[in-house]
Amino acid sequence: MASPEDKFFRARLIQREEFAADLWTARIDPGGAFKFVPGQYATLGIEKDGKRIERPYSIVSSPAEQEIEFFFELVPEGALTPLLYRLQSGDELLMRKVPKGRFLLETHTGRSNHLLVSTVTGVAPFVSYVRTLHKEWKEGNFDGSHKLYLLNGASRPWEFGYLHELLRFAQEIPWFTYVPTLSRPWDHGDWTGEMGRADDVLRKYADQWGLDAGNTIAYLCGHPEMIEHSKAILKRRGFLDKEAIKEEIYWVPAK
Ligand SMILES: Cc1cc2nc3c(=O)[nH]c(=O)nc-3n(C[C@H](O)[C@H](O)[C@H](O)COP(=O)(O)OP(=O)(O)OC[C@H]3O[C@@H](n4cnc5c(N)ncnc54)[C@H](O)[C@@H]3O)c2cc1C
Repeated sequence: MASPEDKFFRARLIQREEFAADLWTARIDPGGAFKFVPGQYATLGIEKDGKRIERPYSIVSSPAEQEIEFFFELVPEGALTPLLYRLQSGDELLMRKVPKGRFLLETHTGRSNHLLVSTVTGVAPFVSYVRTLHKEWKEGNFDGSHKLYLLNGASRPWEFGYLHELLRFAQEIPWFTYVPTLSRPWDHGDWTGEMGRADDVLRKYADQWGLDAGNTIAYLCGHPEMIEHSKAILKRRGFLDKEAIKEEIYWVPAK
């Protein structure tokens, strides 16, 4: 019979950075070779009272980085995130040796525009796409023929997490466009960016960027309601076939 050691790495937290009381990033040394493709997720776990609690988490880092990076949101009543939240540099956690998921950037469908829509931690796989393609582009292994358009929704400015990195990429890279949009701008008078939820501004930006079902794949990640609304909007715009919309729903809303 397979022992847990066959399936799990004893991973170690190397570094953490907090953005808000309930949002933080962590860099983890898996403790073994962990090969993944941008857009995949890792399964992280902690043992408590003799039971293993595991959940999937999208990978933020690119495969070229040594450590694996995650962007977490604390769910105060949740089973795992309060335990993950307590981890400090040097602490151990479990990580399944095999990554999973099919939320990958599709570059062989004939559509060369990629509309990425996310809420808060849902930006994670998109950061991995951009970091990876940026490196390939710098090395001359990506010609920029695929265009990425990222709409990133949050309620408060600090929830964007990767705002500065993504703004820097957008300034430097001709094939990457980034729009962070704030749904509660009235609390933040100094916010000069886009306002509204990601799904509220989706139609406007799809028009502005010339994205239609013939030339674009949409990728929706994070909040289940954002995904539902965005899907309905995109379907009305003709995104009807199976390949046109990809989704990564982070949780099932309580009934
Ligand atoms: C493919 C995939 C990738 C994911 N990637 C990430 C990631 O990169 N970062 C991340 O933080 N989470 C991510 N999640 C969500 C993660 O797997 C957990 O569900 C989440 O961290 C909550 O775990 P928990 O054990 O603390 O709460 P649970 O005990 O699982 O949940 C308690 C309750 O909270 C609800 N809930 C769960 N998450 C949220 C939330 N964020 N906001 C509001 N209600 C919620 C659940 O539906 C449940 O009713 C991902 C999920 C999937 C399926």
